Amino acid sequence: MTITVVGTVAFDAIETPFGKVDRCIGGSATYFSVAASFFSRVNLVAVVGEDFTDDDASIFAGRDIDLEGLERVAGQKSFFWSGEYGFDLNVAKTRDTQLNVFAGFHPQLTETQRRAPVIFLANAEPSLQLATLEQCESPRIVALDTMNLWIATARDALTEVFKRVDLVIINDAEVRQYTEQSNVIKGARQILALGVKTLVIKRGEYGVLMMTRDKLFAAPAYPLEQVFDPTGAGDTFAGGFLGYLAAQPEATDQAFRRAIIFGSTLASFTVEKFSLDRLREITIEDVRARYREFKALTHFEDFEV
Ligand code: AMP
Repeated sequence: MTITVVGTVAFDAIETPFGKVDRCIGGSATYFSVAASFFSRVNLVAVVGEDFTDDDASIFAGRDIDLEGLERVAGQKSFFWSGEYGFDLNVAKTRDTQLNVFAGFHPQLTETQRRAPVIFLANAEPSLQLATLEQCESPRIVALDTMNLWIATARDALTEVFKRVDLVIINDAEVRQYTEQSNVIKGARQILALGVKTLVIKRGEYGVLMMTRDKLFAAPAYPLEQVFDPTGAGDTFAGGFLGYLAAQPEATDQAFRRAIIFGSTLASFTVEKFSLDRLREITIEDVRARYREFKALTHFEDFEV
């Protein structure tokens, strides 16, 4: 099944305790599309400025990514985000956000993009997510990601979007912030009560928790010795997760569980280098090999009495 994603294609400036880069490719839709395209076809809907060159666009080349929806606007600059991380790599501190061309972005989906059975509303202002959703024609799965900024500044609009999606991918701090609950499980129940069917809670280096009304699945993160730059881990996770799920004949409980592990596997590659530098050099075989390591890592037998 094809996935339509609407989000940012951006330039980032990043500083971690291990290095610094002044300008590299980033953006929620960029990480998502590249990760999802390992498994499914992706329609990318985003906007960039004149500064986004063909060389920059080469990150999408040779992958199953339709670029018809990647609009380039003359005389404007691309979305720019600058962030830093301290020794706790789970917490990103935003230094600067420049919307630039993204400020005037009102996506008009083509028929093909509207009819995709899976829709991913990548991190963006909730009103833009809602406007996108209103154009879609009875998708089977609608998923969304968000961030602390929108919980603080556009809470009501975000609640409206939550009520209309099947799947929310969010981190633990955002669950706490949105629900004002210190216990993440209790907070998660509040979000599920809005009508969300599945909640996927990202817990950084501690892994992922998936919750429905009656089921719970927990997976650790792949234990890496060298985490270089966590930027994009969340979007890569979402891409691997939804990309794998969209490629399955049926969205069974087991398919959801495997999707969580594929998402985590892809995210573990992203954090090994800056930007998409690691993601762009791996093959599906590398992904499968690490998935198997993941399985071995978490496997245990029932106890014997
Ligand atoms: P994450 O997967 O959460 O680390 O997302 C990282 C990407 O999100 C970066 O490459 C940024 O370009 C992008 N980003 C940061 N802030 C925003 C925002 N307010 N809206 C949309 N995208 C953003």
